[in-house]
Amino acid sequence: MGGSEAIVIVGGGLGGLTTALALGRAGRRVRVLEQAPEFGAIGYGIQLGPNVVPMFDRLGVTAAVLDKGDVPDACLMVDAYSGEEIVRLPLGVSFRERFRHPYIIIHRVDLHQVLMDACRARPEIAFEPAAAAAGFEDRGDRVIVHTADGRGIEGAALVGADGLHSAIRAKLRRESAPHQFGYVAQRTLVPMGEVPDLVPRQNVYLWSGPGFHMVHYPLRHGTLFNIVAVYRTSTFADRLEERDHRAEVQRIYAGTHPAMQAMLAMMNLERRWPLADRDPIRHWHKGRVTLVGDAAHPTLQSLAQGACMAIEDGVCLAALIDLADGDYERAFAQYESERYVRTARLQLESRYMWDIYHAEDIARDVMRQTFADRTEEDVFRCLAWLYDGFRIPTRLPSAALKE
Ligand SMILES: Cc1cc2nc3c(=O)[nH]c(=O)nc-3n(C[C@H](O)[C@H](O)[C@H](O)COP(=O)(O)OP(=O)(O)OC[C@H]3O[C@@H](n4cnc5c(N)ncnc54)[C@H](O)[C@@H]3O)c2cc1C
Repeated sequence: MGGSEAIVIVGGGLGGLTTALALGRAGRRVRVLEQAPEFGAIGYGIQLGPNVVPMFDRLGVTAAVLDKGDVPDACLMVDAYSGEEIVRLPLGVSFRERFRHPYIIIHRVDLHQVLMDACRARPEIAFEPAAAAAGFEDRGDRVIVHTADGRGIEGAALVGADGLHSAIRAKLRRESAPHQFGYVAQRTLVPMGEVPDLVPRQNVYLWSGPGFHMVHYPLRHGTLFNIVAVYRTSTFADRLEERDHRAEVQRIYAGTHPAMQAMLAMMNLERRWPLADRDPIRHWHKGRVTLVGDAAHPTLQSLAQGACMAIEDGVCLAALIDLADGDYERAFAQYESERYVRTARLQLESRYMWDIYHAEDIARDVMRQTFADRTEEDVFRCLAWLYDGFRIPTRLPSAALKE
């Protein structure tokens, strides 16, 4: 058993904070290590499916999230050249009736802050900024996390919530680097007042083109506008100057709809993120060490659910630690088996959707015709496995009960 020692969580992103909050609310002591000098989030938008709302309910933060976020009327996929609608996911009354909870768009900084505030209100949770984990030792009855600056931080168990390039995962598994697809993302936030009239400002839009797409939606009650441009480029792994990024963007998005051209002109193209995922795995724990979120099952963002999975993970893991009464090995084994099919499906369907968004030539015509036949009910049915949510375990299966 873990005794009264804290559980160490490496990574203070959405997955790490959710796990900390869920554990803290169950009365377990937690210490969150974050490599950055301050806990925070990158300043762009995030979409949250209705499946995370019951997680927020459990964490006691739904009202705060809804206060900071917005609920759009629809999510639309349109053609990058003609602007014609390809498929529509209505997010209004029929969506609420079908999925019981809203679809939320929110500034990541605001969501992170809501979770931070809730964590800070719990005496069980301690924060350690500027603590980059470099490795760990599992001593059987406890774990020691080694930081890059030479400290050893002891805990009852370790949760790696350190994202796509997880240092904790690297020590658990021998494997190659994440799978890169040759795509990069560039993100921009602009004041809504600067957005020209020809750009649709309400709702979530995905402009789909051959080898590229663009997503945009309003944030902070319509005062900000979030734009993400994603495209395939042979220079995806290179560090280039902003003017080189702009030249690439101008070439790749040439001839697209005037609304897209207007958005590209507003974008800050300084920084870009090469996009990557990994193949799904069944097991991501060993002894007293496990993973949550992108560290365990990084995914392409096609279904806008990577963070949602990290949040579900954290709540599920905390529930199982509680049910197993701190028997970490059992809790971690059960957690994997509860989570791996759902998260693997997300990883695989996200790859499939990625090809659909970026379809070229004949594949593009086929994609358009396939979507043209879809009714609202069809669209809901395709997403039901995801949006119907994840049932948090309330008991351990008998095989996992202690003798
Ligand atoms: C362009 C884009 C758009 C996206 N849009 C959405 C969306 O709309 N909806 C959605 O649900 N998901 C979306 N995602 C996915 C989502 O961002 C991730 O799945 C989510 O952030 C994963 O959370 P995490 O806590 O597991 O990891 P991260 O957010 O990566 O957090 C990891 C944390 O660990 C810290 N860390 C890393 N290494 C160490 C270390 N060695 N020691 C200590 N700390 C460390 C990092 O500084 C960071 O704070 C998007 C992703 C991209 C790229």
